[in-house]
Amino acid sequence: MLLNRLKQRIAATTLLSAALTMAWRSHGRTNNELVTALRPDALGNGVYHSERVRDVMLAVDRADFCHSNPYLDAPQTIGYNATISAPHMHASALELLLPKLTNGSHVLDIGSGSGYLTTCMAHLVGSEGVVVGIEHIPQLVNLSIANIRKNHSEMMDDGRLKIIEGDGRLGYPAAAPYNAIHVGAAAESLPQNLVDQLAVGGRMILPVNMNDTRNGQRYVQVDKISDSEIQTKDLMGVIYVPLTSVEHQIGRR
Ligand code: SAH
Repeated sequence: MLLNRLKQRIAATTLLSAALTMAWRSHGRTNNELVTALRPDALGNGVYHSERVRDVMLAVDRADFCHSNPYLDAPQTIGYNATISAPHMHASALELLLPKLTNGSHVLDIGSGSGYLTTCMAHLVGSEGVVVGIEHIPQLVNLSIANIRKNHSEMMDDGRLKIIEGDGRLGYPAAAPYNAIHVGAAAESLPQNLVDQLAVGGRMILPVNMNDTRNGQRYVQVDKISDSEIQTKDLMGVIYVPLTSVEHQIGRR
């Protein structure tokens, strides 16, 4: 038991340090170079394998969603104490949720921020799918809509991609149940509201703050097996902004 926990910790630490190494190495002069650098090389260093992830990241230029250093594998500030996540985290999130991002899927992106990942997921679910991004800072809602409209307006016009202003801790019951839920900010613990809005067979990935300085934030995958059963998997250590109230976020220094 103890040995297993230790092994898990070592695996998680290795994953994290691999991701951090990637953060240093994976940058490009163009979106194409960045996306190519994130795919495993001959040594196996990389964060996604799927061609669908590659194609969607090629189709969505990070520069539309981020003014500073768009092709550097690092988070960048987007104002209001929020960041656009690092490209290796976007690629990992897409790879982890990929089996659930199929034609017609319903998807919820909580803390949609810049709108980058929401846009990628909207590409992957096709015109019959629905992807809802929820963001609680009104200025970021407007910023993300303007970002999306630069090159992906058709997905807002055909109704598959919506950005809603609201408290993501409550989810968005109107379009539930969801085949995939991505949470882009760290919850205190696993939010039951969101588990309830997952479809049976659906998957959620989220950073959870363990309130425990030894383990810090963990990136967790939650699979809903039946109405009364979930399976959770601790993926790795991460650092995300908190899933919180507007007042707490804006007051945060
Ligand atoms: N995936 C986004 C991540 C943005 S950072 C991107 O890569 O652009 C996390 C976001 O969560 C911030 O935009 C923050 O404003 C938002 N957020 C934090 N708490 C929230 C809440 N309770 N409801 C909705 N959004 C929230």
